[in-house]
Amino acid sequence: MSAYLMNTYKRLPVAFVRGEGAWVWDESGKRYLDALAGIAVNGLGHAHPRLVAAIADQAAKIIHTSNIYRVLEQEQLGEKLAQLSGMDNAFFNCSGAEANESAIKLARLYGHQRGIELPTIVVMDRSWHGRTIATLSATGNRKAQAGFEPLLGGFARVPFDDLDAVNRVAENNANVVAVLVEPVQGEGGIQIPEQRYLAHLRELCDRKEWLLMLDEVQSGMGRTGKWFAYQHTRVQPDVLTLAKGLANGMPIGACIARGAAAQVFGPGNHGTTFGGGALICRTALTTLAIIEDEGLRERAQTLGERMLAAFRQELSGIDGVREIRGFGLMFGIELDRPCNELVKSALEAGLLINVTYDNIVRLLPPLIISDEQADAIVSILSPLIRDFIKR
Ligand SMILES: *Cc1c(COP(=O)(O)O)cnc(C)c1O
Repeated sequence: MSAYLMNTYKRLPVAFVRGEGAWVWDESGKRYLDALAGIAVNGLGHAHPRLVAAIADQAAKIIHTSNIYRVLEQEQLGEKLAQLSGMDNAFFNCSGAEANESAIKLARLYGHQRGIELPTIVVMDRSWHGRTIATLSATGNRKAQAGFEPLLGGFARVPFDDLDAVNRVAENNANVVAVLVEPVQGEGGIQIPEQRYLAHLRELCDRKEWLLMLDEVQSGMGRTGKWFAYQHTRVQPDVLTLAKGLANGMPIGACIARGAAAQVFGPGNHGTTFGGGALICRTALTTLAIIEDEGLRERAQTLGERMLAAFRQELSGIDGVREIRGFGLMFGIELDRPCNELVKSALEAGLLINVTYDNIVRLLPPLIISDEQADAIVSILSPLIRDFIKR
């Protein structure tokens, strides 16, 4: 541990120095199977040769200019994402929090343009939108918020997957301009709403002229078997935010809008120094091309079903295992007790996993894993969970 770094992370005592596909190696040469992908970032795994070549090529041409000039790679990425998402235009920055920050600013400006002086955004319990003051205020996690008061106003919080609660806000609060929601809650423990949830929110937003803003920072980029999780439904959002898997580890965020929402910002309303640079956008474009050319959405779907079935076979019915949830390559195995120590025992066994909300084992493996690697994740982790519960 370094005394020269602020103490913001309780880090595991391991550093990875090299990776290849779903494998990473630590300083001592020990190999690990990566079932977390840098928290849904490295969808293509590590050191994908085509991505490495594109990054090297672009770095040798031009890395960054400024958004005061045209950036051709940014224009191409905006167009490509519009095609894939059915949206109209994009603003690029450098992280998920910034993408959501952009969405929050967009919704507020949209409200003011419609004469609403104190625009309010409906947000959810257990949600995660980032750690800037605005996104932390939107986030439904008291632990993360504690100590950073005063938080920002302008948010109305309701339980996730509870339409009655949103309807009550609609009846009582004339300042609402938007709903911000994850189609699948990631940090909240892979919480999957009932099937018609998004469609109902869409109907309500249409009726009230609210913006439906979907945070797909974690669930986007092919992870659930479609480019975006909402594409499993017939719902189209007004605003979509992306980040994690979009450039496979290069810092990027995107706030993507459609219809009226796409016309809200004008010159001078919003900006960024680094966002949308040539190198990052070329990396994202190449990431999208690889996901497409290697059929990785289909793989995410097939492997997701295979792993979910295998986990259910290994773990369901066991006392202490409350629920096993999966949506493509997002898995949450909820236990009845805190299980953070499983991260360490998995690490010892050569497997990278995560625990969220203290009692939910979360897996977000890269989309490029092989059948054998997928099976290995299940066969390494399941006995660890069984042994942990027995102790
Ligand atoms: C990780 C995450 C964020 C925050 O992204 P950062 O890049 O860490 O700022 C926002 N929303 C969701 C759904 C996330 O999973």
